[in-house]
Amino acid sequence: MFLPRSVKVKRTAHEEKSCTVKKTKLSSGGSLLEDTNEFQDCRSARTETSASRCNLHEVVQEHTEPEAGDLSVGSTTLGEGNRNTDEDCSSEEPIKSFSKSQRWAEPGEPVCVVCCRYGEYICDKTDKDVCSLECKAKHLLQTQAKEKNLKSDQFTRAESQAETHLLNTPYFYKDHSFILGLQDEQIENLKLQLGIAVQGLQVPRPIIEFEHCGFPETLNHNLKNSGYEVPTPIQMQMIPVGLLGRDIVASADTGSGKTAAFLLPVIMKVLKETETPSALILAPTRELAIQIERQAKELMAGLPNMRTVLLVGGLPLPPQLHRLKQSVKVIIATPGRLLEILKQSSVRLHGIKIVVVDEDKKLFKPPVLVFVDCKLGADLLSDAVHKITGLQCTAMHSEKSQVERTDILQGLLQEKYEVIVSTGVLGRGLDLVNVKLVVNFDMPSSMDEYVHQVGRAGRLGHSGTAITFINNNSKKLFWDVVKRVKPTGTILPPQLLNSPYLHDQKRREQQRLKQLQNSLVTGDNIMDIIRKHDKNNSQR
Ligand code: AMP
Repeated sequence: MFLPRSVKVKRTAHEEKSCTVKKTKLSSGGSLLEDTNEFQDCRSARTETSASRCNLHEVVQEHTEPEAGDLSVGSTTLGEGNRNTDEDCSSEEPIKSFSKSQRWAEPGEPVCVVCCRYGEYICDKTDKDVCSLECKAKHLLQTQAKEKNLKSDQFTRAESQAETHLLNTPYFYKDHSFILGLQDEQIENLKLQLGIAVQGLQVPRPIIEFEHCGFPETLNHNLKNSGYEVPTPIQMQMIPVGLLGRDIVASADTGSGKTAAFLLPVIMKVLKETETPSALILAPTRELAIQIERQAKELMAGLPNMRTVLLVGGLPLPPQLHRLKQSVKVIIATPGRLLEILKQSSVRLHGIKIVVVDEDKKLFKPPVLVFVDCKLGADLLSDAVHKITGLQCTAMHSEKSQVERTDILQGLLQEKYEVIVSTGVLGRGLDLVNVKLVVNFDMPSSMDEYVHQVGRAGRLGHSGTAITFINNNSKKLFWDVVKRVKPTGTILPPQLLNSPYLHDQKRREQQRLKQLQNSLVTGDNIMDIIRKHDKNNSQR
């Protein structure tokens, strides 16, 4: 609702008579741009005192003297002043709809709070000077936005006070009342349905929502920001266990949310720690460590003094060392780089209270060495394995430069690669101590080569495994392979054992052996040999 500017007038008798205040119908509702009929402007008499609205109770603003001819309402206060009738109005002008149709303010005149033109009217909602319906609408929108900001500021301040309080008080996890209210049967049913299986003593009940953890608002907000609306099953069970500070060995599929499952308890544990660093997260590969740090940063955003450092190979060491010394709370590292840093006597990690090993099975899992029979095969298979499994793969063959070869071998030792697909170039000589699994994707063309390749697994007296793919391309070696592998107790595929090539090779070998045996001189056959020899001689 919009009011015409009015002034409280001290009238002389003459003026009282000549005052042409129109009766206005002023309602408090309505849209921002209201019907102009609601506004009644009258020429005012000379005004002297503070201004008031023609039909509102309160004095609304300082009076400024309108020029003769100004469109302003001279009135007394509501009730009395509005006794004036339509007939009193000597002239009537429609309320200006648009700011552009308003003139500029003369010195001393009220000024529109939006556009600075002549503030001919008073906004009934805010008592501010406005020049037109357009500016009133803008002004109300601005006011609403300001109020909203103010409210949210106050809310944020209140929230941040509550947050500071929460951050300063010790955090103890206890089952949320909702969770406590559930029957044992309901919990068991839930776990069954979600595939949650636990072992251990007094394992806490799973949570169902993140809100059940009593996290600080910032953390809840960060979870929402990351798109984590509800916890995944591994998070439901693991988070309460972690928040209680218990040791956990957890296993769940890739992509099931394990990272956040251990990060959230870590964050809550280190949040109030003063010693730095407080937590160490070990990841088997650089890529995984980078991924963990990214998630940690997302979840820690806005929480006080929560710095992370990434200690991984393949990136320059000095910046990592420098950051490590900057009071970081959480270290995310690969074992190789961490050991390298720990060897430097200046670095101490005394504050570490939590150690998380992500994918511990993988951590000490040596890379797989796959042998193929050509360079193109090595490149193609390496790409395919990476695309399908997401494992870090590389190809090794004679076309790799010396620099590349060195990098690959170093990467292999530093666990940068999980799979290396190689032609025979890695088959011999190199002591790949940490290779435990060899896959002969293409069976080599000779048994000699085969023996060297499978020998890459399980060096230095350790046991290893070799998986060999065989097809008819290597049929000439079937019997040799069986002879070599069978004594190790390996279960051989029936296709191989029943192969006619294998039986043929076996039969031929037996014949050869028999022939050989026949040609050997033993106590049993010596007389036969002599007789045969004599007979041959006498015939000659
Ligand atoms: P992870 O198994 O930890 O590697 O997580 C796999 C992906 O799921 C990552 O991209 C996470 O950001 C995402 N994630 C983890 N927890 C949740 C959750 N509760 N809701 C939605 N996404 C999640």
